[in-house]
Amino acid sequence: MADVVIVGSGPNGLAAGVVLARAGLGVAVYEAAEAIGGGLVSESLFDERITHDLCSAVHPMAAASPFFREFDLAARGVELLRPEISYAHPLDGGRAAVAFHDVERTAERLGPDGRRWRRLMRPLVEHSAGVTELLLSGQRSLPRDPVAAALLARRLPRHATRLAAGAFAGEEAAALLAGVAAHALGRLPSVPAAAVALLLGHLGHAGGWPLPRGGSGRIAAALADDIRAHGGTLHTGHRVTDLREFAGARAVLLDTGVRELLTIAGDRLPAGYARRLARFRYGPGAAKVDFLVSEPIPWADPLVGRAGTVHLGGTRAEIVRQENLAARGVPTEEPFVLLVDPAVTDPGRASPGARPVWAYAHVPNGDDRDPLPLVRAQIERFAPGFGETVLHERAVAAADYASHNPNYVGGDIASGAMTLWQSVARPVPGLDPYRTPLPGVFLCSAATPPGPSVHGMCGLLAARSVLRHRFGVRALPSLAPRP
Ligand SMILES: Cc1cc2nc3c(=O)[nH]c(=O)nc-3n(C[C@H](O)[C@H](O)[C@H](O)COP(=O)(O)OP(=O)(O)OC[C@H]3O[C@@H](n4cnc5c(N)ncnc54)[C@H](O)[C@@H]3O)c2cc1C
Repeated sequence: MADVVIVGSGPNGLAAGVVLARAGLGVAVYEAAEAIGGGLVSESLFDERITHDLCSAVHPMAAASPFFREFDLAARGVELLRPEISYAHPLDGGRAAVAFHDVERTAERLGPDGRRWRRLMRPLVEHSAGVTELLLSGQRSLPRDPVAAALLARRLPRHATRLAAGAFAGEEAAALLAGVAAHALGRLPSVPAAAVALLLGHLGHAGGWPLPRGGSGRIAAALADDIRAHGGTLHTGHRVTDLREFAGARAVLLDTGVRELLTIAGDRLPAGYARRLARFRYGPGAAKVDFLVSEPIPWADPLVGRAGTVHLGGTRAEIVRQENLAARGVPTEEPFVLLVDPAVTDPGRASPGARPVWAYAHVPNGDDRDPLPLVRAQIERFAPGFGETVLHERAVAAADYASHNPNYVGGDIASGAMTLWQSVARPVPGLDPYRTPLPGVFLCSAATPPGPSVHGMCGLLAARSVLRHRFGVRALPSLAPRP
């Protein structure tokens, strides 16, 4: 039996595996799916020349997170391609707001709101490392950059409350920021959504919103290669149903959701802890659609076609309404949609007459509706004629997401609602959220702080707890690639 068993090979499970294997421990990763990667899986769905990202596609967090900065994807041959426009937000009437990599270029197109955008974003960009480290921390230590903390403290009240409605005078800037806040997949406005807007928003002007050349699967492969290079093993097609299977391991890390933790360890967990876990809430769902299209998307404003990511939902008021209805469990016909056309940034993702389009809609948790008509309608609204370019399409309803990945209960791709309480007390209140009361059993998934996205920080922080509590090791190993 390996020293350490990791259940689940999402970015956090793999990040934990990298740290622990580099610390000299024997690591074995067990993954339920046939491919490693969890939220990083890429596959050809319709045409073997074309790769689709089944879950994550865009990686501002992987570009900026302390884990990945040290791991150094570029040095391992994973090229992060940065589109000139990080994200675009089309509006009715052929208009669009766009976030260029450059703050100044962005501000210039926002009219009188340009000044406000500049004032909001520029200081965050100047303190990007501190802002990122603070928001991607385990939220249990003092900020290392007090200026970054002060910048966030000054901005959060304005953007987390009703005051947010008056932050900008025009529709463009307001919609641009609301589209980023909506990545939080929950109620708007709120503290977690404002934190996401400030983090992702300023990263659009700092490290950018990059896509890995060839698809997200390249990130998973780099992590898995490093685990193998340090003696670890990875096993796919192995769904763990009972923790007793690993009774001989000195530590077990679960890259699973809270519900899965209850299932596979439930009868052994102390009743109080199990009761608190059972109160963990899931948030709205994502309903995914993948298209194979014959040509670039015919956006009404061609500038949108230069963006890596596109937010579809109209004005700020529309987005706030849609997100709040989804959070309350009310299905609507005009959900907020995120779209990525990877070949804009990575031409190798397309072949003559065939290119992938990635999209998902925010819908109520467990929504079993076919999202295709909803997503198509939002795209057509801003890109008339899109439907005529579609060669193939595939949809996964929110209700079906958990059959692909048990962590995404009811389609909640955040592995648990990102409310203010649950963004800190994740999965339950405690000083070390990665430890469970079972000796040697730890949680390392996005159901722990700092929460969802591909940043590897839950894995890194859980591995740090394992090293300290199970092996008496306080120093983290170097994560840098071998020369
Ligand atoms: C449609 C979609 C779009 C997204 N877009 C982005 C994006 O563009 N950028 C971004 O940063 N993030 C994005 N995300 C979120 C991101 O993918 C997740 O936050 C991230 O993958 C969470 O990582 P994780 O390691 O905690 O868990 P996951 O990536 O969910 O991996 C968990 C793994 O554990 C396995 N597992 C669970 N239970 C068991 C068991 N009992 N036995 C064995 N294996 C088990 C699962 O099969 C899975 O492979 C997206 C997610 C989805 C679904």
